[in-house]
Amino acid sequence: MGHIEFQHVTRRFENGHEALSDVSVAFDEGTMTFLTGHSGAGKSTFLKLLLAADIPTRGRVLVNGVNISAMTPSRLPRYRQHLGVVFQDHHLLAQRTVFDNVAMPLRVTGMREREVARRARASLSQVELLDKENLFPRHLSTGEQQRVGIARAVVTRPKILLADEPTGNLDPDLSINIMDLFARFNQIGTTVIVASHDVHLIESMGLRILHLELGRVVEDIPATVTPQPIAQAPEDQLAGASS
Ligand code: ADP
Repeated sequence: MGHIEFQHVTRRFENGHEALSDVSVAFDEGTMTFLTGHSGAGKSTFLKLLLAADIPTRGRVLVNGVNISAMTPSRLPRYRQHLGVVFQDHHLLAQRTVFDNVAMPLRVTGMREREVARRARASLSQVELLDKENLFPRHLSTGEQQRVGIARAVVTRPKILLADEPTGNLDPDLSINIMDLFARFNQIGTTVIVASHDVHLIESMGLRILHLELGRVVEDIPATVTPQPIAQAPEDQLAGASS
């Protein structure tokens, strides 16, 4: 469920502007890729198409061979269950505790509360925030809030994890910490795509980089490091993630 392919994808708006122009690119299951480029290059549009929050004007977006742009609205929620999404401003609910924020995607599925609690705590443990589960987002630092956003994104154990400028508000040390966390989720088999214009940081990680300019892929730099998959259960393995 983690293989992604864009086939000749164009997204042209009513005003004639093309956010993406004839983009063809594939992501193998279990790989991690950075999507980079200046503001306006088409990164967010790329991620929106993957979320099926937008559809291409031409071309197809295939996830495990299924054309998600042609999915009926009734099938979309099921498809989206396989996706985890992290935003720059993390969209946490201010009136809910850290625990409730992370538990929310499970509760909406009707899961029993005991299982919800077990999984939410496993996710919080993965981002090393178990001790803050009863606090509210305003009590946390920006980096901690972003880690709650990541815990919430992975609590459903998605096959695909997407992030749009997840380090946009963070200083360099915290940014490295967040990117390492994504890399760890990738090591347990999740396909990860992170849009970021933090070129120095992403170059230092040695992973695949897709460079977009004016809606076109102008560079596709392969990874220089060999992935080291981790076979153990995610919550056990990631409990030691750095803070
Ligand atoms: P990035 O995420 O790389 O900053 P975006 O995907 O948000 O880029 O936007 C790509 C281009 O498409 C930008 O020039 C943006 O202004 C334009 N764009 C985005 N949405 C619309 C829209 N609804 N109508 C017209 N142009 C749009």
